[in-house]
Amino acid sequence: MIQDNLHKIQAQMAPGVQLIAVSKTKPVEDLQQAYDAGQRIFGENKALEMRDKHQVLPSDIQWHFIGHLQTNKIKYIAPFVSLIHSIDSLNLLIAVNKEAVKNNRVIDCLLQFHIATEETKFGLDMAEAEALLSSPEFAQLHNIRIVGVMGMATNTDDKNLIRSEFSTLKQYHTRLADTFFAGHPEFKEISMGMSGDYPIAIEEGSTLVRVGSAIFGARNYNIPVNDV
Ligand SMILES: *Cc1c(COP(=O)(O)O)cnc(C)c1O
Repeated sequence: MIQDNLHKIQAQMAPGVQLIAVSKTKPVEDLQQAYDAGQRIFGENKALEMRDKHQVLPSDIQWHFIGHLQTNKIKYIAPFVSLIHSIDSLNLLIAVNKEAVKNNRVIDCLLQFHIATEETKFGLDMAEAEALLSSPEFAQLHNIRIVGVMGMATNTDDKNLIRSEFSTLKQYHTRLADTFFAGHPEFKEISMGMSGDYPIAIEEGSTLVRVGSAIFGARNYNIPVNDV
């Protein structure tokens, strides 16, 4: 079933769009099945769960962190994480940079924007992002690299609302690419789209879609994970 779902979704990826298989709460056997079907990018939202899975699964997997990241948990993923999607403050970025220095590497990050109408979703607004990028502290961070933006649309059936939120994120990306990141071709990623809305996200310019339940089935949040 995982293999069938994956192949169906992979076939819908436009050129330049990468599929992240969001495997949070799922057992390593499910991830291994996706791996065997050719999937190499996995998304997790708990640091210890990601570390534990990284330890037992093949080493050519790229691990993307997609959830709210606590500064005291960064150390668990800093040695291997490929991309952190959820940078929503200068303090978090400073903390990621510090762990990257310890590991003698540069960690790629996305700025997470608040594009949904719901209050509960994390993220920056444009003024906060510009303040972060203009700050002298940011200029001192040499072990992180900002490669794009991320956002989550409102959880709604209103496709027009979802489309307009994705379009807003794309405009934010363009604005930052033309200003703070002029001459930085690596600033090219727009992480948007989940199981319920990834086709719209692709139409609106997504480069990274984060799909979980449409690949692995519904999640059971009652399964304990070890760092809640
Ligand atoms: C869980 C999660 C996803 C995947 O959600 P599905 O609806 O299962 O596809 C994508 N992005 C983030 C940030 C998530 O936390």
